[in-house]
Amino acid sequence: MDIFTHPDFDGHEQVVFSQNGRHGLKSIIAIHDTALGPALGGCRIWKYRTEADALSDVLRLSRGMSYKAALTGLALGGGKSVILADSRTEKTPGMMRAMGRAVERLGGRYIIAEDVGAEVADMDEIARETRHVSGVSGGVGDPSPWTARGVFLALRAAVRHRLGRDLDGVRVAVTGLGHVGSNLCRMLAGAGVRLLVSDIREDAVAGIVEAHGATAIAAEEAHSAAADVFAPCALGAGLNRTTIPQIKAAIVCGAANNQLAVAGDDARLAARGILYAPDYLVNAGGLISVARPSTGLSEADARAKLEHIPETLLHVFELAERSGIAPGAAADRLAMTRLNAARPGPDA
Ligand code: NAD
Repeated sequence: MDIFTHPDFDGHEQVVFSQNGRHGLKSIIAIHDTALGPALGGCRIWKYRTEADALSDVLRLSRGMSYKAALTGLALGGGKSVILADSRTEKTPGMMRAMGRAVERLGGRYIIAEDVGAEVADMDEIARETRHVSGVSGGVGDPSPWTARGVFLALRAAVRHRLGRDLDGVRVAVTGLGHVGSNLCRMLAGAGVRLLVSDIREDAVAGIVEAHGATAIAAEEAHSAAADVFAPCALGAGLNRTTIPQIKAAIVCGAANNQLAVAGDDARLAARGILYAPDYLVNAGGLISVARPSTGLSEADARAKLEHIPETLLHVFELAERSGIAPGAAADRLAMTRLNAARPGPDA
């Protein structure tokens, strides 16, 4: 498997493969860029189909973290880790502690936090081996309500921008009803949104249908639902060559990382007149929360940054319209400008 010529390799500073046979740990930590600060990013615990899929995921996710921190104005770099395991059947405290030791060996260049498949309790185990961890219990805790609030604010701003109306009566198809998706549904329902919900877990769907009077739809049809907004809150690559032509919504705005299967897919959305709210910007709330201990941000300052997400989003839409590019490319351009300004000179 090629690394330096890998299509998702983007000049990453460091990629570390770790294993611990006793505890069944196989992990990859990718540090994309530390120009703005130490690389903070979640740990995804997932049973990948192949090791190549895991590498691709961690390379793309860590790059997204660099851009997310830069756009949000945080003094942090971008990193991410993956553990190649089923979080429900293979994850153990010993595995988490072995992961903690792998993080500790990086001496603070990477700060680990939660992502899909990880819980606050896992961060507590990791914290027994390293202090370079965020989101432990008694600390800032679960980032998902912060992420959901940021997505909610962004979605409301996108609806006002594109549809010129408030959320009351707007139809939103949310797919993925986990930590973030379920919180988002609660906020949207509170604003009078008509929810169309799906997940591969039937119990998750039943819970949201009962709590908010949502309508259940099939997970594989979520992107093509008759909705005003499609909110992907499961895993990535949901926006691709096959799904984009089938989308009926006018707006895509959701929490999932890496929604675009390939970089050009945001142009494909724009060509169909669909407004895409760049994922790493709208889902930055969780990062803002877990960044607090390492950046010294007060809760009030963190809240202010969270509430600022829609303003940055409108700036991205405006830049995209002015430059004739898609919003994803406009967000990348803004983030790159901030990253390049922070990079050391040519002799470093
Ligand atoms: P989660 O594991 O709690 O929830 C994910 C949900 O998606 C689960 O209920 C799962 O059953 C469902 N799902 C998986 N595959 C699906 C499919 N094909 N169709 C429909 N549903 C499917 O994860 P989460 O913490 O809620 O994160 C959701 C997404 O948001 C992820 O992409 C994550 O990277 C991103 N994100 C999360 C945070 C956070 O604070 N948790 C922050 C930023 C980004």
